[in-house]
Amino acid sequence: MTPPAPGSGSAAGARPGRSAVETADAVRAGRLTAAAVLEEHLAAIEARESELHAFNLVLADRARAEAAAVDESVAAGRDPGRLAGVTVALKDNLCTRGVETTCSSRILEGWKPPYDATVVTRLRQEGAVVVGKTNLDEFAMGSSTENSAFGPTRNPHDPTRVPGGSSGGSAAAVAAGFAGLALGSDTGGSIRQPAALCGVVGLKPTYGLVSRYGLIAFASSLDQIGPFAGTVADAALLLEVIAGHDAMDSTSLDAPAPSLLEGLDGGVEGLRIGVVSELMDGVEPAAAAAVEAAAHALSAAGAKVDRVSVPAAVYGLSAYYLIAPAEASSNLARYDGVRYGLRSEGPGGSADVAAMFAATRAAGFGDEVKRRIMLGTYALSAGYYDAYYGQAQRVRTLIIRDFDAAYRSFDILLSPTTPGPAFELDAKTSDPMAMYLSDVCTIPTNLAGHPAVTVPWWPEGSGLPLGIQVLAPALGEAVMLRAAAALEAAAP
Ligand code: GLN
Repeated sequence: MTPPAPGSGSAAGARPGRSAVETADAVRAGRLTAAAVLEEHLAAIEARESELHAFNLVLADRARAEAAAVDESVAAGRDPGRLAGVTVALKDNLCTRGVETTCSSRILEGWKPPYDATVVTRLRQEGAVVVGKTNLDEFAMGSSTENSAFGPTRNPHDPTRVPGGSSGGSAAAVAAGFAGLALGSDTGGSIRQPAALCGVVGLKPTYGLVSRYGLIAFASSLDQIGPFAGTVADAALLLEVIAGHDAMDSTSLDAPAPSLLEGLDGGVEGLRIGVVSELMDGVEPAAAAAVEAAAHALSAAGAKVDRVSVPAAVYGLSAYYLIAPAEASSNLARYDGVRYGLRSEGPGGSADVAAMFAATRAAGFGDEVKRRIMLGTYALSAGYYDAYYGQAQRVRTLIIRDFDAAYRSFDILLSPTTPGPAFELDAKTSDPMAMYLSDVCTIPTNLAGHPAVTVPWWPEGSGLPLGIQVLAPALGEAVMLRAAAALEAAAP
């Protein structure tokens, strides 16, 4: 199988040969209608959604109305915005006013948020057309989308394999041409890992760059919303639209949205690039070889490439599996049968409220979510707090220090995005540790709060993509994307 060029007709079937940047330009100029763009995507959904299950909900009627409104604006001489007529799929943990938002959990079934997430508002302001809500691992906990209460999503490049997770539906939707762009959330790798396994671009922004208002919280000190796209330029465009200060999120950075598209073609001449030794150890040979090839290509393009050590990165996974469950146990306490979605009285109807809470949570949460709540509650309990949670926070500080030291000598860093390509469905469901290890290369950046992006890399002769991860210091998105664009141009 010949690997697809970015934005070209995809091996996955139906990705239109037009990038989001080109679509928006054509729609704004009146050369293409938003309605026609949408119908292409709806046809792709019609052809393959029953096989892939990327969506929890397809919003065909609403999307047709949104596309018509964009076309009316153009006809009336108004500019619909930077994403005019571009279809976007939303991970189903992003609140959409009046539209079910489930987190792929039974506990939220039927719940309709009374407001839009800030990112959704910004998409609408720029003329995007929302095609649907995508499947995920329940509450974004997982790496394969198999933890969804509504069944797994399949990888468009090989439906016997997982799309990665937790934003597997968003990654699959872009790879299969169901939408021009998608949004996901990344707490430990949930944008980058599925993007890599589905052969698309996925970006986790600097913590605080994108508002989390209306993102259903998993681990609040780590969660960030970010783009999935077919090309680096498309990811840059979407990030420009969603980034920037929002008074509704107290962790939102009070800084203007960065300008990213401009300068994307600046090249890597003179850029100092470090390949992170610790993230090359223990990955599959093909993943390490892809990074070596990528480093070679960047060096041929004028970058200065060397090895760099980030010693504390090896403790990332352990620290993450204390901090993230601890925060989750607190965030998920709100699902009590009173305020959201499901309520279960238990057998025979419960006599007291505590029994109702217990019955609701027992019925509403899946196994992995329960495991995280228990782990997190234990890590935060009196007597263990300092030994587990406190210790993990100290490790987090060491990771930040080691990255800071690396960035004194390097502008950006490089690593594999995942230890290997997409695995078969069910291959890791009975072994949580094996599943957790899929994020070993992505987690350190979440703990540091730094940005990172994955660029697809198809090894010669392989039918499955890998991802090259480009990491940058806080607010280093512009230089990071410049290197990503160079990699995209050099990719086999
Ligand atoms: N796979 C990791 C986890 O299960 C990361 C998830 C995420 O980034 N949302 O926690």
